[in-house]
Amino acid sequence: MKKILLVDNSKLIINVLEELFLEKNNFEIYKAKTLNEVEQLILSNNFFIAISNLVLPDALNGELLDTFKNANIPTIVLSSKIDDSFMSNIDNLNIIDYVSKDSIHGLENVYDLAELLLYIKDTKVLVVEDSNVVAQQIKATLETLFLKVKTVPNGDEALNELKNNKDISMVISDYNMPKMNGLELTRAIRKDKTTSSLPIVIISSDNNPQQRIKLFKNGANDYLNKPILEEELKSKVLDTFSNIKKIEDIQSFNKIFDENIITSSTDIKGNIQTVSKAFCKISGYEKEELIGKSHNIVRHPDMPKCLYEELWNTITKGQTWKGEIKNLKKDGTYYWVKAVIEPKFNRNGDITGYFAIREDISDKKRIYELSITDGLTSLYNRRYFNDTAHNFILESVRNNNTFAFILLDIDNFKKYNDTYGHQDGDDVLIKVANSLKTTFKRGDDQVFRLGGEEFGVLISSKTKLNIMDLVEEARLNIEKLNIKHEKNTPLSVVTASFGTLIISLGNNENIKVEDIYKKADEQLYKAKENGRNKIEYLEL
Ligand code: GH3
Ligand code: MG
Ligand code: MG
Repeated sequence: MKKILLVDNSKLIINVLEELFLEKNNFEIYKAKTLNEVEQLILSNNFFIAISNLVLPDALNGELLDTFKNANIPTIVLSSKIDDSFMSNIDNLNIIDYVSKDSIHGLENVYDLAELLLYIKDTKVLVVEDSNVVAQQIKATLETLFLKVKTVPNGDEALNELKNNKDISMVISDYNMPKMNGLELTRAIRKDKTTSSLPIVIISSDNNPQQRIKLFKNGANDYLNKPILEEELKSKVLDTFSNIKKIEDIQSFNKIFDENIITSSTDIKGNIQTVSKAFCKISGYEKEELIGKSHNIVRHPDMPKCLYEELWNTITKGQTWKGEIKNLKKDGTYYWVKAVIEPKFNRNGDITGYFAIREDISDKKRIYELSITDGLTSLYNRRYFNDTAHNFILESVRNNNTFAFILLDIDNFKKYNDTYGHQDGDDVLIKVANSLKTTFKRGDDQVFRLGGEEFGVLISSKTKLNIMDLVEEARLNIEKLNIKHEKNTPLSVVTASFGTLIISLGNNENIKVEDIYKKADEQLYKAKENGRNKIEYLEL
């Protein structure tokens, strides 16, 4: 870290400056209140710059600046109004700049200047000037800003230098030169792709507005009058580099943002207009495959329709929607995001499209999914049943639907295990689970493995006849798996018994999950009693 020496006899000024510097933590800070302290510190440290008052109680006649000059430490002078006459008498090339310490704004400038100097240190500048005296004057001025300066006497040599030195970051050129003038040089630099965005400052003694306009129109970034005022030259050069730095800062921020934040924007119909790299990475699509397509391209069939209805209702009203969404990847797998979707407005307040920013919550969701999934069959487990059955009932009540709870149990399964072994028993459980998933495949249907060889199904939005048909189909589908089970007479294949509870809501709004389970279990018991591979119904 570069070292900075802060010198002032006012504790307040030093403290404010120190705080500004420590906040960013780019420099190592040293402080001095007297010339004596300055001399001691200089002996044992190598300072990048000094930020110093002009006079101190023990250095009333400019001895401080002499000290810094002799030690070759570039200095930013903290000046106040009373220093004006003092300053007009000094000529010190080691001074980078004068900054007013009369306001906090001035002190903030000191920090920005120090940071900018660090940024431009050793940056190469090309000075094009046919007068050697002027060229040397510019060179000396720029070197106080830590710039590396190369001088050439004409445009041809300048272009040649630019061709051979790709690391030149700025051109400062005289206007009136033999062969090629400043305007022609500007045009030539702009024409070449490798130098087209290089900052150019032109210096001219003509003071001609037309000439200036022409220069700007041809791509010059700034203009200076001759004779050159050292302060003006420095401030123009610093301004130009400060703008470049701001653009670079924004570009590097954008890069980090683009690579790490999952964003997209759409038109009002939901057609994708922009996507970040992070969006492409998580969804598995290339940018070109997404732009212009409907955002539905990443919509996962598991997400209920009502979620998207609510989302669109919210954002078309001009409000922000927040929620968790399972999205579909190009390869058919999925990822979970926590999304914030906001409308974009024009000046009249009309919605012109939507912008979404998302956080990848796949890991969190995966852990939750594992905790509610049965490892053997991949069905939901008992825990998930306990978590959701109540909401399922509430939702059915809200929609005034008939719903059903079906409890089923494989017949004589103990004997199956005893005959064919536990491993084959596990395979049967998987096959029965898959059969149930195929039978109850509607979006709202939920199938659970509730215990060893006991399964449960919650279904909704169906008529009583619908439900009875479906349960019969489920029973038959298991039978049709045709899994040999000699001791499960009379069919000698794997079968299951069903206890079914059909609940028409209206009079049953306060029904509890435990009641439903108990009543279905009673029906299941009856089905077993009646000879197995049977269905028993109870209507509430
Ligand atoms: P019923 O027709 O009356 O239901 O008779 P059953 O033999 O199926 O009923 P019981 O409750 O007596 O036995 C259930 C058997 O299910 C006992 C147990 O070994 C078996 N079982 C429970 N969980 C698993 C499992 O994860 N894998 C295997 N292979 N068997 C299991
Ligand atoms: Mg059984
Ligand atoms: Mg059992």
